[in-house]
Amino acid sequence: MLQYLRPYRLMVLGTFLFAGLTTAFELVPAWLVKILIDEVIQGDQVQLLGWVFAGLVSAYVLRNLSSSLRIRLNNTLEQQVVHDLHVQVFGALQRLSISFFENRPTGEIMSRVLNDTEHMQRIFVDGLEGVITAGLTLIGIMGVLFWLNWKLALLALVPIPLLILGAMGFTKRVHGYYRDIRKGSAELNALLQDALAGIRETMGFNRQAYEQDRFGRKSDRCRQDTLKAMYLWSFYSPGMTLLGSLGGALVLWFGVGEALAKHLSVGELVMFVSYLALFYVPINQIHSVNHMLQHALAASERVFDILDAVPEVHDRPGATAPVHRLSGAVAFHDVGFHYRMDVPILKHISLSVRAGERVALVGPSGAGKSTTLKLIPRFYDVTTGAITIDGYDLRELPLSFLRSQIGLVQQEPFLFNGTVRENILYGNLSAGQEAMEAAARAARAHEFIAALPDGYDTWIGERGVKLSVGQRQRISIARVLLKDPPIVLFDEATSNIDTETEVKIREALNELTKGRTTIIIAHRLSTIQDVDRIVVVAQGRVVEDGTHDVLLDKGGVYAGLYEAQFQV
Ligand code: ATP
Repeated sequence: MLQYLRPYRLMVLGTFLFAGLTTAFELVPAWLVKILIDEVIQGDQVQLLGWVFAGLVSAYVLRNLSSSLRIRLNNTLEQQVVHDLHVQVFGALQRLSISFFENRPTGEIMSRVLNDTEHMQRIFVDGLEGVITAGLTLIGIMGVLFWLNWKLALLALVPIPLLILGAMGFTKRVHGYYRDIRKGSAELNALLQDALAGIRETMGFNRQAYEQDRFGRKSDRCRQDTLKAMYLWSFYSPGMTLLGSLGGALVLWFGVGEALAKHLSVGELVMFVSYLALFYVPINQIHSVNHMLQHALAASERVFDILDAVPEVHDRPGATAPVHRLSGAVAFHDVGFHYRMDVPILKHISLSVRAGERVALVGPSGAGKSTTLKLIPRFYDVTTGAITIDGYDLRELPLSFLRSQIGLVQQEPFLFNGTVRENILYGNLSAGQEAMEAAARAARAHEFIAALPDGYDTWIGERGVKLSVGQRQRISIARVLLKDPPIVLFDEATSNIDTETEVKIREALNELTKGRTTIIIAHRLSTIQDVDRIVVVAQGRVVEDGTHDVLLDKGGVYAGLYEAQFQV
């Protein structure tokens, strides 16, 4: 954690300084009260009264001024560190591989980025500040107590070993509770995120009560976990205060004896008891800090899980990009792939696509077509064999270069919550209006965009919900056109769209694939009239490869799929 403070050394030092000053001024009033009793009242030195009063006022003013500066500095420090953490965790997420996201609920990851980092911040605010102020106060008061009367001071220390034992026991148990609390809170967040994303299904299936019940049960689990930590605190905190008070009573008992034996003046006894009261304040404060720290540590473990995660797919050391744009000859060399060790998905796939060639992948559902496509931009790395582009093994190219050469249109294209313009410009952030419109025209999208209420500046809602499926697909084609990569991977949408839209999408696709290496996953065989070659994948293997006519004549898997779709 300390590395996050390193860039802000001065602010940390300032916090220390003002915490120290606050503590020093805190100790002055009890000493002045002793002078009041011993010198002013019992010693009849009335002329000192004004000075003592002025001293008291100054001590109060300076204490609160230092405190104010300490709070200000500490909060600035805390906000800076939380900001750094947010940005770092987000950056770490951007570098992680697809598998990380496919194996975790989105809501859970969001909870780590936002809620867990918020809890970590407490280490910096309450934690740092609390430990510094309490530590300094303790040291200061201990010094004064020993200076006043070492025997009484030793007595005051009697409860300390018990307090330490109690703190150790508490820490051990509460840390586990806070782990459960953070985990439960993330699960609740994930459930909420899922429920909101699936709200249409919930309504369609009338499952509001079912969802309510699911959420209620998860929330109740969180309540129980939180209460466990709180109940433990309800024993621990008053228990520790009781021990401290017993120590104080012990000191008072012996202190009165000392005063009666004239080893101590009344003023000194009062001062001693005042400092003693102050002595247990920081001790209690340290207990509270420890409590809060356990929560913060449980949260930080979850944040560091992300920060420390190593991306499965990453650049090889020394990977360098060719100086030119690739021409786009894609080849699979005996490629094997599995998501889970025991379930091979692709087996011995060998396939070569010439630069500029258009190839369609067809095959039964679950055959491994989408998986084949995901391997080309290295969303996953092959398990065996290799994939090359223009002879370069994908793993030898820097990821950012490789992905700059590939345009991907997914089966369910994702549009960001923003305007049409922002979504198309995602393909090339520096493109101008003209280039953007040209891409939209080529994607057969300009017409419908112009008819939207605010044209290119129309807000299209989360995931583009305010657009039809066909419109979303054409916007996603436009943004790949704007990117202008040599290789295009197109996973055709399975949803039914009307014939007119289908014609437009086909036209857009023709524009997109002109002069580029294209691999299309075709669900509707009508889409693939214009391709050069058809590759049939079944059960993770290439089983047929040829033109439409050749494959139809062959009477194999493709002919079967064709007959099934067109019922010839
Ligand atoms: P469809 O035509 O229905 O889209 P497909 O041929 O594209 O099917 P893939 O999506 O490649 O098939 O899936 C191939 C197999 O891999 C399926 O059995 C699927 O269950 C499995 N699979 C896909 N994605 C994952 C994943 N992220 N983790 C584990 N298994 C997966």
